[in-house]
Amino acid sequence: MPQELDEVDIAILNSLIEDGRKSFRQIGREIKVSTPTVQARYRRLVNLGFIKSVSPILDMSKLDKKSKKEIKEISQVKTSKVESDNSLSVKVTCDFCNEPIHGSPKVMKFAKLERFFCCTSCRSLYKEKYGGRIRSLSKEINEI
Ligand SMILES: [Zn+2]
Repeated sequence: MPQELDEVDIAILNSLIEDGRKSFRQIGREIKVSTPTVQARYRRLVNLGFIKSVSPILDMSKLDKKSKKEIKEISQVKTSKVESDNSLSVKVTCDFCNEPIHGSPKVMKFAKLERFFCCTSCRSLYKEKYGGRIRSLSKEINEI
């Protein structure tokens, strides 16, 4: 089932599109939610695979001509604001078989990550395959 984005998610995304280097605290102050809320929502959007990375916004006028030419090619992707008129949702795919998840996803949480699966067998197969890594990640972060 696609994960619905609510007003808070959209406000965070728009805030990050403006300036990807903002801290969670700054964003929270700006959109009037608590820092841990921003942090949790951000992490969820990353875990869902919706936020791939936060890229810099360049002020091209600060470059001399020569460099301008070189940089233009890599920064052609335009970021547009997320409109909140329609209900938005993120498609979730299974982290093991990559099929779209239709029902509610089976979730596995470890360390600070969440993984989503279409069925319990994908979840246990994933666990089998990555068990060692999951254990060491969890140990590092000291959550289990
Ligand atoms: Zn699956």
